[in-house]
Amino acid sequence: MNDSGHPPQGEGTRAVRAGLPEPVKYEPALPGPVFAAHFHLPGEPTGPYTYGRDENPTWARLERAVGELEAPGQDGVETLVFSSGMAAVSSVLFSQLRAGDAVVLPGDGYQALSLVRAQLEAYGIEVRTAPTGGDAQLDVLDGARLLWIETPSNPGLDVCDVRRLAEAAHARGALVAVDNTLATPLGQRPLGLGADFAVASGTKQLTGHGDVLLGYVVGRAGEAMTAVRRWRKIVGAIPGPMEAWLAHRSIATLQLRVERQSATALAVAEALRDWPEDLGVRYPGLPGDPSYEIASRQMRRYGCVVSFTLPTRERAEGFLQALRLVDDATSFGGVRSTAERRGRWGGDAVPEGFVRLSVGAEDAADLVADVRRALAESVR
Ligand SMILES: *Cc1c(COP(=O)(O)O)cnc(C)c1O
Repeated sequence: MNDSGHPPQGEGTRAVRAGLPEPVKYEPALPGPVFAAHFHLPGEPTGPYTYGRDENPTWARLERAVGELEAPGQDGVETLVFSSGMAAVSSVLFSQLRAGDAVVLPGDGYQALSLVRAQLEAYGIEVRTAPTGGDAQLDVLDGARLLWIETPSNPGLDVCDVRRLAEAAHARGALVAVDNTLATPLGQRPLGLGADFAVASGTKQLTGHGDVLLGYVVGRAGEAMTAVRRWRKIVGAIPGPMEAWLAHRSIATLQLRVERQSATALAVAEALRDWPEDLGVRYPGLPGDPSYEIASRQMRRYGCVVSFTLPTRERAEGFLQALRLVDDATSFGGVRSTAERRGRWGGDAVPEGFVRLSVGAEDAADLVADVRRALAESVR
């Protein structure tokens, strides 16, 4: 028994039951999506359900599920779901920062952060950047109101020490947000490491089927989260009930997917490391990787993304074309493997031959064989 008087639960058990209501005779375990712009509301207009931009029972169940995974057993935690990861990211940044404030962003984070940066600056907010690896954020924290961390970073897979940075930020009165997209709550729990917000795109491995856009923010209930909720209402960045329901349904298999995909990602990373050419493979779970030491302290699983660099753009394009089990597509985290030459977008500071590979739920032996064959074929 734990403190709450319930037997401790494993992560698979928690994932399949996350956010489910108490059983009701003749009702499904996970009630279907509630499509409602408004709810019957005679008299005083008080919740829980008033208008569809403010609340929806399908989101409420999904929010409970995400909260149970991001902050298991932690009381006083609030979760909000959004229409996309960027809606969640923007809602934290734009609700917490005012003209004259300073914010620290990763210089090597998700590519749309550069658009966010320009918008923050247009509103008179000072934006400082620091690379993710090496905890260089420490040098630019003085006087900052918010520290934004993305660890592991997408697509470079660098890692920073969340606990250390959160302590340093809090000592200076700054709030800390961690983009937990790549790790998922089963890989890393930022709130447990001291962060104020765990923010993520649910579009990636959380939902895992490449058919839903979604985002979420988890934080300690209080003023800061109230401001995030208010921002969601102001901009209307809400998920559709169908998307929220699909996401909740997908969370039931999250532990299975994350377990399988991270084990296979390690196998793929090892195959790339052992290839006769030096491909500069990066995977936080690969012993010897620059991220490995910190990652093994703060992560429980290392994610499904492996990155590496082929010598030229042509070689990378040939490699992607030769793959049979891996689709050439952006995004990551899905059950079907995808890969892309990241440089085609022009937003990331990566070499022309840089490939980001997202490992799916295929059999590891099949995937490793496909990657080896495509590497060999692309030499010709
Ligand atoms: C994809 C992604 C986002 C944005 O999420 P969307 O759902 O595409 O809006 C934010 N952060 C990271 C690390 C991502 O990979």
